[in-house]
Amino acid sequence: MKKIQMVDLKGQYDNIKEVVNTSIQEVLETTSYINGPKVHQFQKNLEQYLGVKHVIPCANGTDALQIAMMGLGLKPGDEVITADFTFAATVEVIALLQLTPVLVDVNEDDFNINIEAIKKAITPKTKAIVPVHLFGQCANMEAIMEIAKEYGLYVIEDNAQAIGATYTFKNGSKAQAGTIGHVASTSFFPSKNLGCYGDGGAIFTNDDALAHTIRGIVNHGMYERYHHDVVGVNSRLDSIQAAVLDAKLPNLNDYNKARQIAAQKYNKAFEGVTKIVTPKVSNGCETICDTCDCHVFHQYTLRVLGVDRDALVKHLNENGIPCGVYYPIPLHKQKAYADSRYKEADFAVTNQLVKDVISLPMHTELDDEQIEFITSTIKNFING
Ligand SMILES: *Cc1c(COP(=O)(O)O)cnc(C)c1O
Repeated sequence: MKKIQMVDLKGQYDNIKEVVNTSIQEVLETTSYINGPKVHQFQKNLEQYLGVKHVIPCANGTDALQIAMMGLGLKPGDEVITADFTFAATVEVIALLQLTPVLVDVNEDDFNINIEAIKKAITPKTKAIVPVHLFGQCANMEAIMEIAKEYGLYVIEDNAQAIGATYTFKNGSKAQAGTIGHVASTSFFPSKNLGCYGDGGAIFTNDDALAHTIRGIVNHGMYERYHHDVVGVNSRLDSIQAAVLDAKLPNLNDYNKARQIAAQKYNKAFEGVTKIVTPKVSNGCETICDTCDCHVFHQYTLRVLGVDRDALVKHLNENGIPCGVYYPIPLHKQKAYADSRYKEADFAVTNQLVKDVISLPMHTELDDEQIEFITSTIKNFING
């Protein structure tokens, strides 16, 4: 059996070596390392893939979030609602911009931001909602957009984990994750569904004026050379990373499909195991779709009930199976983001999830033998 890895970047690279190497080589030959033609080419191809008017590449997914918030003109003291159960980057940039993060609880079944909790958290100072499409599927965007409309709020989708996922509205129409809110951010960190070989990120929007503002912000606030109209940052996707991404983009749907197939096999292996809750697929899909991409499984995350989760993690590691706990501590309990206004009772779900969740190896190169070994090792532990 091949060594099991949480993500298998080398196995993936071996299968696309020639196109990636050729694409990188083109950059080396032209020496356009910054803002070269490859960056523009990738931007256009991603716009077309997503069906969005503007993609603005930048240096990483955290910058993308920050720049999106700067572009919207959010001001110190503005309240921004986001999920308690996510990677810290989301709340970090809110705090960095001196906006006020307002963390709220998530759903027990799909781990995404809870709609009732959003409503409860809205005050006259609320300016934006940042839903995180956690683990590969969209938050309840239809309800979030309705709330945003009612209260005049911006919606910034943190789409670092769900690129290529589709969202289905109640009327049956579909949209790509990251094209529904006013603006969205994504990350091309190597382990993400579309990853480069270093850091990278992008902002998406259908709003022409906002796109223009953001294009200046990523480039020192310049709209005309050496004229600095707004305070900006230096956040660029470099051409070599764009070359990798442009070579990989045509494979994104196949990569997401490979993840879905692995998830289906995991689900099947855990059928009837009462102490295991397999991931719920929301947004109009009851199960993993063969014909759509409701869930692109950035992570395959189980809940284990009545099982010592940390002992299970240790057991798996001892058997050569890496696994992850995303996330072990709710953001509202992190020293940097604790706030005396928070009440524990408002975070009942997150407080429970951090004890129950375990993410299994999930990538494009998992094979049947590995999945069988992983699932039987888990079942033996739980039943033993
Ligand atoms: C990875 C990730 C980010 C940050 O992306 P970087 O490119 O590492 O800066 C932000 N939000 C979420 C939910 C992520 O998973």
